[in-house]
Amino acid sequence: MEKEQKIKLVRILFTVAALIALHFVHVTGTLRLILYIAVYLVIGYDILWEAIEGIREKELFDEDFLMAVATIGAFALAIYEKTGSYNEAIAVMLFFQIGEFFEDYAVDRSRDNIAGLMDIRPDYANVEENGKLSRVSPDTVPIGTVIVVQPGEKIPIDGVVTGGTSTLNTAALTGESLPRSVEAGDAVVSGSVNQTGLLKIRTTKAFGESTVSQILELVEDAAERKSKSEAFITRFARFYTPIVCISALLLAVLPPVIRMTLLHTAPRWHEWIYRALTFLVISCPCALVVSIPLTFFAGIGGASRAGILIKGSNFMETLSKTKTVVFDKTGTLTKGVFEVDDIHHSEMEHERLLEYAALAESASSHPISASLQRAYGKEIDRTRVTEIHEDSGRGVTAKVDGVPVAAGNEKLMESLGVSYISCRSAGTIIHVAINGEYQGHIVVSDVIKPQSAEAMTELRRAGVTKTVMLTGDSWKVAERVAQTLKLNEAHAGLLPEQKVEQVERLLQQQQGKGTLTFVGDGVNDAPVLTRADLGIAMGAMGSDAAIEAADVVLMDDNPTKVAKAIRIARKCLRIVYQNIAFAIAVKLACLILGALGFANMWLAVFADVGVMVLAVLNAIRALRVKNL
Ligand code: ADP
Ligand code: MG
Repeated sequence: MEKEQKIKLVRILFTVAALIALHFVHVTGTLRLILYIAVYLVIGYDILWEAIEGIREKELFDEDFLMAVATIGAFALAIYEKTGSYNEAIAVMLFFQIGEFFEDYAVDRSRDNIAGLMDIRPDYANVEENGKLSRVSPDTVPIGTVIVVQPGEKIPIDGVVTGGTSTLNTAALTGESLPRSVEAGDAVVSGSVNQTGLLKIRTTKAFGESTVSQILELVEDAAERKSKSEAFITRFARFYTPIVCISALLLAVLPPVIRMTLLHTAPRWHEWIYRALTFLVISCPCALVVSIPLTFFAGIGGASRAGILIKGSNFMETLSKTKTVVFDKTGTLTKGVFEVDDIHHSEMEHERLLEYAALAESASSHPISASLQRAYGKEIDRTRVTEIHEDSGRGVTAKVDGVPVAAGNEKLMESLGVSYISCRSAGTIIHVAINGEYQGHIVVSDVIKPQSAEAMTELRRAGVTKTVMLTGDSWKVAERVAQTLKLNEAHAGLLPEQKVEQVERLLQQQQGKGTLTFVGDGVNDAPVLTRADLGIAMGAMGSDAAIEAADVVLMDDNPTKVAKAIRIARKCLRIVYQNIAFAIAVKLACLILGALGFANMWLAVFADVGVMVLAVLNAIRALRVKNL
């Protein structure tokens, strides 16, 4: 329990005790009033303060305001009628606080639950020193340290395997139960559990930047980012609360006036004012205020257990309305692991050509770069490379041993004024120019991810009406992918800004009917990820820029997770709407009873707390996403 909650609990207990004591001690008159006001302030000072703040910030009509008006009103009535029964105002405040207390508790619990279920925070790293293993705190391990992970242990920090083979369980990260086998040279992420063999891993990131820390941070941030889901409530409150307040005012004024003027009977002001105050208490939207953020939070928690990181609750709504999904090709629909197939038209030794290309590409994060390095196979001496410049969507230029080298597609060659030889092979072509002279091209090819076809079927089943592919690669390659996957549209040869143009055109086309989601992985996708209604990035292979720009990150780069994310978002919103409908139904019933004089303030607060408990229980269902 946090300190604030403990204080609240003490206040609640004190108030209960004080009410009982005051019931037995017979004080009357002003002293009685002062004592009751003191108790009232003890239990309600924070609510009153919030209400004043609300008025100052012109955000009238929130639940604090309603509570303040209702209880002060009840007090005023009691003073006016000289009944001395100040109990009611205090009791209403007390119930309200008990409700709030319970709500905080429930939110904390589900937060703990989510964190516990995710259970991925590593506590230590093993570092070998003088032949002995010592356990150290993972955040003290510098980048490049070799750590040892024994079978059964969690990998604490992202890195590359330098020794040993094993299988990893990545279920906590990706939701996939299939183990993944790794050997020397493989990149591994923190949070996976080492199952069979001992692994030596050279860390490539600090603990704070490692996958596990990033995930936990994201989930915690998403929970903190309450303001966005509050926007949802504010929108709802914009029409709800004014209606309620005006109704309350009418209820207080109209019947007495009618009684006086038309019926010529006593107006019974106090009775109608009391009913109006009750009406205000009933109309307080506490259950919604609690359950809506909680539902989003549970949905985000459930999604992250399935390897889908949703960066904020506001994205749930956008996601649930997805009608068009636009994919990048390389690294998104295809594996992004290129194999060098051939080298054409080169008078140089092929190995030399590959060496120049690999060196020039040494700083690129593009999958093509990695494949060239792999094909070259030798250690890269970075000191030989200077003036590296990457032209997104085209390729790279650099100086290798002081000689200008360019490696990229036809567009790059054109922009450099180098005449090139086109290639008929069905692959991605990397033309290479050295010292301004064309030196031939390297043919590399990529394969479609095994899950891509299923991803398309699932999307259609999830109600997506249009699937589009945008790629910077050649049309020849794009066509094959588009046909295999039966995409609705495909566009090739696009520079990053042209991808943005295409997305803008598609946004125009769908004219606010549903939303558009872009799924990509590369640095060059960052602008489109931002421009689309919603951006999804591939988390494992994806560049940091894409992960940063995206609203949703798929931990295991599996494109079928896009449809899953949509279904999770739909379930989450369904629960939100259920809770809204339920709460409003109960409120309406109470409101009618209150207006007819059958409900008093006590019942009102009781109903409110009851609705809240049920709504919270319903909200927690959003955590369960396994079979979606
Ligand atoms: P996609 O949109 O399919 O992910 P990119 O926009 O990343 O593709 O790249 C488009 C094309 O630009 C590639 O197919 C390749 O021809 C060229 N290209 C981009 N970056 C590089 C690079 N680092 N080296 C060589 N060619 C590159
Ligand atoms: Mg890409």
